[in-house]
This record gives sequence, structure tokens and C-alpha cells, in this order.
Amino acid sequence: MTTIDQRQPVLITGAGGYLASWIVKYLLEAGYHVRATVRNKNDFKKIGHLLDIRPGEGGILELFEADLTRPGDFNKAMRGCEVVFHTASPFLIGKVKDPQKQLVDPALEGVRNVLYSAAETPTMKRVVLTSSVVAMYCDAREILDKPSKKFNEEDWNRIADLQYEPYAFSKTIAEKTAWALMHEQKQWDLVSLNPAFIFGPPVGNRADGASVATLQRALSGEMRIGAPDLAFGIVDVRDVAQAHILAAFNPEASGRYLLSKQSMSFLELANEIDAAFPGKYKLPNKVLPKWLVVLLAPVLRLSKRYLRNNLGYRPEFDNTRSTSLLGLSYRPVRETIGDMVRGIEGAL
Ligand code: NAP
Repeated sequence: MTTIDQRQPVLITGAGGYLASWIVKYLLEAGYHVRATVRNKNDFKKIGHLLDIRPGEGGILELFEADLTRPGDFNKAMRGCEVVFHTASPFLIGKVKDPQKQLVDPALEGVRNVLYSAAETPTMKRVVLTSSVVAMYCDAREILDKPSKKFNEEDWNRIADLQYEPYAFSKTIAEKTAWALMHEQKQWDLVSLNPAFIFGPPVGNRADGASVATLQRALSGEMRIGAPDLAFGIVDVRDVAQAHILAAFNPEASGRYLLSKQSMSFLELANEIDAAFPGKYKLPNKVLPKWLVVLLAPVLRLSKRYLRNNLGYRPEFDNTRSTSLLGLSYRPVRETIGDMVRGIEGAL
């Protein structure tokens, strides 16, 4: 049981990112004192939307510069905080030239540096870590081995490595390291949030994250000849942000929380967009045959191994802990997709 004094400042890392911006917005609107770390305070393209948020009574935003890979960078911003939301981590999908340098080093060093700072901050009580469902599974095909036919908080990704699904590997080792560091001490506890693919509108007009880019690709007509038979969990960015806030301030919150509203295929996603905006976008209306997807693998930026283990399999997720213990309620996917398309139309 961890009780947080909500009048004290709270720290959030990677504050200008797609997800973090919603956490910052909700915290400021609710009147919290928010310490926000960003890589560059003068990069208004990346942080301008944070400055536009109108805080509620008592809400304060303080910006600090910090890089995941620089030891000690989070010490100053963390002073006096009882909670840290550690969201910062590179989220890159598709071609990554140097996975060690671009993904694993920042994810792992980031967790270490943030948690070492927590250990040096006597007021620190709770670390809320943004992990991912990709730290729980690698390939949709693994669902066949699950007696419940659903992934849940007991699962770990045991397959990803530097060569195969390096983003998932970076999230898995970062979360495992966080749990190991938590067990070495008794001062602060750790709660991890493991969201599925996050969709929903961005705060303001920052539109460079991987979630927004994925929807932009779908809307661009790139898949109009057909969609690969791939499916994933989907969750609204605003619900994920609320889950972080519930996890921070609920004294009973503990362990991992898988966050997913439902599973969807690319074709189902396209159908949702078409239902909300009939005929407006050149969307796929059929599934591509397997052989064609394999042929198109390089264009789709998907490896043959990935296709073999994911094409035609549908991962399902058990979100019971998030609803029954954390008290999260999920908005319908139609609202998520509709708001997201409206939110990024200006950037298309
Ligand atoms: P995003 O917009 O790209 O945010 C990533 C954040 O990490 C950015 O603020 C970025 O800073 C920061 N960052 C990256 N490298 C850094 C470094 N070396 N030093 C300091 N900060 C660094 O992506 P997002 O979707 O919001 O992701 C946020 C978190 O959610 C990540 O931990 C991601 O793994 C996790 N997640 C995302 C999804 C999803 O579908 N989007 C699903 C599950 C989990 P800049 O602002 O300076 O670029």
C-alpha cells in the first residue's frame, strides 16, 4: 500500500511524446505540479503543444532537459517528487539500422538512469513504467500455446532479440531490468502499464510518432489493393494516459497491467475508418492472399519470419486486471479511430 501526497510535484519523462502529452494534459488540468523532461526545451515543434495546455487551478508545468543515455540527467527534475511516470523510450518500427544504438541502449540505459535517480531521491515512492504488450508476446502464433487463448500479465516475450523484433526486445529487457532494480530495494514500488497498439488523437499538432505514422500510411492509400491478414490489440491513447494516472495514485496498484480494448485486423481497422468517413479514403476492402504478402514483404517492411509467425493469427488479450483492479474503462474503438483521423487530417 503506497500513499502519495498529491500536492507534491510529479515527474514525467519524454513529456512531449504522443502518449506522455496526454498524461501531462490530464495532470495539469487536474491541478498537479508537473515536472516534465524533454530532450530540448527550445524545440517548439516537439514541445509547443505542451505550452498550449491550459492548466486547471494550481496546475504548474516545469520543463527540464534530460536524455535517457546521460547518467544523472533526471536527478534535478526528480527532487521532491513522490511519483515518476517513465514513458520515454524510442518507439521505432520498420527498418532500424542499428538496433543496439537506436533502441536497446536508450531503453535500457533510460530505465537504469531513471531508477538510479529514484534511488537517490529520498521522497520517491512509486515508479510508473510505460512498458508494452510486446514485452508479453512476440508473435501472434504463440496464442495457440495459451490454454486461455489470451495473453495476460503472466506472459513474457521470450523470442525477440537484437535481430528479430528489436523494438519488442528493447521493451522486454527494459521492463525486466526495472523489476530487478525494484526488488533490490524497499523505498519505492513499481507499476508497469503494458499497452497494445495505441491509437487516438495527438495533443496539438505533433504528428511524428509511430502510431500516427501507421494511421497516416493506412489513409494514404498505400494498402488500397488489400490488407495483410495481420491483427493486433488496440487501445485509446487517452485511456492509456488515464491508466497511468490511476496507477500512480491508487495505493493498491501493483504489478503489471495489460491495456487493450480489443483485437483488430488491418481490414477491420480500415472498415472502421470507412464507416466513420464513408468513401473519403482509399482503404483496403479485402485481405491480400498470403503468397502476395510474402512477395510484398520488403515493400511492407515486414520480415518473412515475422509473416510466417503472424499472418493469419489473431492475438487476443485479457484486460481484466486493468478494468477490475485499476478501475479503467475503455472507450469504443470507433470513437478512438474517428477522433484520431479528425486529429491528424491537417497533417495529411
Ligand atoms: P513517441 O511519441 O515517439 O514518444 C517517445 C518519447 O521518448 C519521446 O518523447 C522522445 O523524446 C522520448 N525519447 C526517445 N529517445 C530518447 C532519449 N534518448 N532521451 C530522452 N527521451 C527520449 O512514442 P509514444 O507512442 O508516445 O511512446 C511512449 C511510450 O509508450 C514508449 O515507452 C513506447 O514504447 C510505449 N508504447 C507505445 C505504444 C504505441 O502504440 N504508441 C504501444 C505500447 C507502448 P522526443 O520528444 O525528444 O522525441
